[in-house]
Amino acid sequence: MQNRAAVIALVVPCYNESAILEESARTLSAKLDEMAASALVDASSMILMANDGSTDNTWEIISRLHDEQPGRFSGIRLAANRGHQAALLAGLMESRKHAEASISLDADLQDDINVLPQFVTEYLSGHDIVYGVRSDRSSDTFLKRTTAQGFYRLLGWMGVKTIYNHADFRLMSRRALDALSEYREVNLYLRGLVPLIGFGQAIVTYSRKPTSRPTHYPLTKMLLLAWDGITSFSVRPIRIITLAGLVALAVCIAMLLYVLYSKFFGYTVAGWTSLTVVILLFSGIQLVSIGIIGEYIAKTYMEVKQRPRYLISERLEPCSGDNSK
Ligand code: UDP
Ligand code: MG
Repeated sequence: MQNRAAVIALVVPCYNESAILEESARTLSAKLDEMAASALVDASSMILMANDGSTDNTWEIISRLHDEQPGRFSGIRLAANRGHQAALLAGLMESRKHAEASISLDADLQDDINVLPQFVTEYLSGHDIVYGVRSDRSSDTFLKRTTAQGFYRLLGWMGVKTIYNHADFRLMSRRALDALSEYREVNLYLRGLVPLIGFGQAIVTYSRKPTSRPTHYPLTKMLLLAWDGITSFSVRPIRIITLAGLVALAVCIAMLLYVLYSKFFGYTVAGWTSLTVVILLFSGIQLVSIGIIGEYIAKTYMEVKQRPRYLISERLEPCSGDNSK
């Protein structure tokens, strides 16, 4: 089918992964060897680890791996912890220098690396973006499963185009990554950005394994990501406010008519209770509305600043040549 081997990079964001990184790196390297043996990928394919300001000795492990096999392992070190999305982007942007296609995956190897050959096959047959899509979520905790599914539904309802059950396990060609680099936003939500790029896209399904260590994505970080996903991609919350404002206006007019009617026909006018209710109700709506509008203003403010999304403090460049020990 394909008649050439692809030079690929596996991009792994790493935040405090010292407990498992070494083993994950060996597993990934063995997988690359296996794919190279079947002439699917070039032997110079490599693993790029993006250290996201870890506070343990993750960077030391990356440096050691690089010393042992500079052609196979490379790394970048972010100057501070910027979060999974920024670390991933940094790694992907860097990987363009060394590979024609990059595959992003988590350091705990929860995503089934046995589908990597399928990713590469899809790439070689002309797809620029290949999404890993989970066929089931039985390995997730109940909380993670329900929150994640609720989130996808909410995003869909908000009009954000996403691939259902796809996290950040995907292959992107250099061309697609170049396109991604054109998106300059600071509030990163890669899963929302990538489908906007276009080119040829394909899907590979897999089942996700239970994690080997506690998650580095606690509920708070997940909610923040969800919030970024919605407010960076959808203006529907603002539309909802407008709609709520219109409904409130209609209610006000109805009440006004009632008050006027009461006055002219000599009934007791609306007293303290109704006044209080009205004040509470509308000040509540106003506060929520101002809050949400404020959120968008805050986002605009951050985007206007054009701050760098990450800074790299060190680089371990891969050296060409021998990948066998
Ligand atoms: N990660 C990161 N920066 C962070 C948090 C996480 O680079 O601030 C990395 C982490 O090392 C891992 C990936 O993001 O490679 C996903 O994290 P985790 O496996 O904890 O998330 P989950 O699988 O629970 O979604
Ligand atoms: Mg994980």
